[in-house]
Amino acid sequence: METLTNQLSDRINNLAASATLAMAAKARELRAEGKDIIGLSLGEPDFNTPDFIKDAAIQAINDNYNAYSPVDGYVELKDAIITKFKRDNNLTYDRSQIVVSTGAKQSLYNIAQVCINPGDEVILPCPYWVSYADIVQLAEGVPVEVQTSLETNFKMTPEQLEAAITPKTKMLWYSSPCNPSGSIYSEKELRALADVLQKYPHIVVVSDEIYEHINYVGGHASMAQFEDMYDRTVTVNGVAKAFAMTGWRIGYIGAPSYIARACNKIQGQVTSGANCIAQRAVITALEAPVSKIQYMVDEFKERRKLILDLLSDIEGFECVEPEGAFYVFPNITHFIGKTLNGKTINNASDFAIYLLEEANVATVTGEAFGNPNCIRISYAASQDQIKEALARIKKAVS
Ligand code: PMP
Ligand code: GLU
Repeated sequence: METLTNQLSDRINNLAASATLAMAAKARELRAEGKDIIGLSLGEPDFNTPDFIKDAAIQAINDNYNAYSPVDGYVELKDAIITKFKRDNNLTYDRSQIVVSTGAKQSLYNIAQVCINPGDEVILPCPYWVSYADIVQLAEGVPVEVQTSLETNFKMTPEQLEAAITPKTKMLWYSSPCNPSGSIYSEKELRALADVLQKYPHIVVVSDEIYEHINYVGGHASMAQFEDMYDRTVTVNGVAKAFAMTGWRIGYIGAPSYIARACNKIQGQVTSGANCIAQRAVITALEAPVSKIQYMVDEFKERRKLILDLLSDIEGFECVEPEGAFYVFPNITHFIGKTLNGKTINNASDFAIYLLEEANVATVTGEAFGNPNCIRISYAASQDQIKEALARIKKAVS
């Protein structure tokens, strides 16, 4: 039968595949062929979901939670999120401002669909999380990349923000702690960005705080904590990272009501709401004291030290110490233009492929995050895997 490939929409034909998920799929494929691949590409904790959360899900099944939930989430879950925002972030939201979605990724997608008109510009400090630019483009928005450097710890300065703003600017999206750089904006740094935004009251901010708890320096600041930013900031969070619940697919927002209600409306047409069992389990997760997940953060901190030590021992990897999340984002320009084992490295993508083929280690090219000079290495893997992976990388590039 003839394949009607030309029947696909321009929208999908123009959409890039998620580079993180594509690299993970490639690693899986090579493993199935018998290759011993170490996966440091995906930002996925290697811990099991804590038992107290699993027990809550089992209880929910036995309690017959099987019907559609309210589109924007169970009231008990919204209340747990409201309490969490107050407890951890000193943010006050009411139920009309909360929307629970199928992962923070869907929260971001909803926001883009409800806020962006064709041609609206969205400022993305680079490096940004892999899907931001594509989610913006799906809404026919225009991503405006702002390049940052190792010197500013990959953070956008107020001057850079000001220079990127045009009459078409509609939004600013960033993550802190940042995936992929691990940088964290301090309260003072956020205030300086907010001071610029004062002159542009129509710009809406998306503050993605999904790595909030994976913080090695202490002190998490939210843009919405500033009174003058509260009414135009959407705070995005989720349980995937801190609670080792990536596959459970629950994310949420605290937002101005008009944005939250719009997200509710789109979700009502697209998913009818997030999975009911997972929602019940997340109530238990969010109600628990943060100390219950500290053991994972402590372990990530050890791994961060390990990987930085090992990388410092390989020529050509220039790193800043990440303050949060579980990635390092070394600059690898040292290798660009060189030929390694007969293979020419023209860019970060070539380098990531080289590491996959020659060292059997999966990483992700920085190009996917808007920075073609770096690669991202996830250290959400065991210390043994990290040691082995870095030994292989050292051998492959020496
Ligand atoms: N934002 C950032 C910065 C992320 O790294 C991720 C990856 N999980 C997401 C959002 C999406 O999270 P979720 O798995 O809850 O969809
Ligand atoms: N957020 C994770 C990452 O950056 C998971 C992959 C994804 O959702 O794209 O690796």
